[in-house]
Amino acid sequence: MTGTDVAKAGLDRSARRARDLVAETGVRPCLATVLVGEDPASVTYVAMKRNRCARAGIESRHVPLPSATTTAELVATIRALSADPSVHGILLQHPVPAHIDERAAFEAIDPAKDVDGVTMWSFAAMAFGYPGFASCTPGGIMRLLDAYGVEPAGRNAVVVGRSPILGKPMGMLLLARDATVTYCHSKTADLPAVTAAADILVAAVGRPQFIKGQDIKPGAVVIDAGYNPGNVGDVDFEGAMERARLLTPVPGGVGPMTIAVLLEQTVDAATRQAAGGASAT
Ligand code: NAP
Repeated sequence: MTGTDVAKAGLDRSARRARDLVAETGVRPCLATVLVGEDPASVTYVAMKRNRCARAGIESRHVPLPSATTTAELVATIRALSADPSVHGILLQHPVPAHIDERAAFEAIDPAKDVDGVTMWSFAAMAFGYPGFASCTPGGIMRLLDAYGVEPAGRNAVVVGRSPILGKPMGMLLLARDATVTYCHSKTADLPAVTAAADILVAAVGRPQFIKGQDIKPGAVVIDAGYNPGNVGDVDFEGAMERARLLTPVPGGVGPMTIAVLLEQTVDAATRQAAGGASAT
């Protein structure tokens, strides 16, 4: 069972739930995708997400903005989508151009529509164990661990990377499931000694084949969240195969799960809003 298989089951479930919601309430879930500029990778990611939405019966409303858009203009656009009752989820494709204050733009998303889990509200809710939307990639990794029957409780979990959208929330979700969590980053001393003690190792570095086989504990569960040019992960796949009990491939591992969680959370948001729960705050 690959990440693609687990993601497909999730996408099918979201499609069924979207169909039921339309039948029961007349509300079709709608995801707004906001893209600033024309970065080719971002254009492709947004197209993939919209394509998946269409296949699941979820409406997507695309809002393309020129790369010269200011922070104030982007914030105003996102606030308007937050206030629009026909939009249930908002995805701001990142990274945004460097002149934009990305945090200010994220914070303009109503937490009830933060289906990509990027606001500080969503992060705090996750950290405190309150209902809210998880950051999609870490949320997808937790669903993968569950699908593979990996129980985090009591395990040493090491997350290499501490970005706000991936590494940090990943560690929080593992902690919430009672793993003993260590974060590594660019200032970590003797990284191989830390990764070699991991029962569950999550690579979220953004450097091709950065984690070597000899730095992995025999029998470890290794999740490669990296996605580098040429479909290359952050783990040396061949070397890791000799040690790991379970290793996610790139592509076909974590990547498909990210979109599956985005759609799942869009249907969740639409369901709550259709029931009258307009705001999470
Ligand atoms: P990011 O914001 O660049 O963060 C990279 C993290 O790695 C930082 O915390 C950085 O440490 C750490 N790091 C960099 N060099 C290191 C080194 N030599 N030793 C130890 N740590 C080091 O990247 P990101 O957005 O989290 O993405 C990470 C990877 O995941 C990328 O390959 C990205 O494409 C992939 N990704 C995949 C998906 C998906 O859907 N599959 C989604 C998101 C991201 P400092 O904090 O100290 O700088």
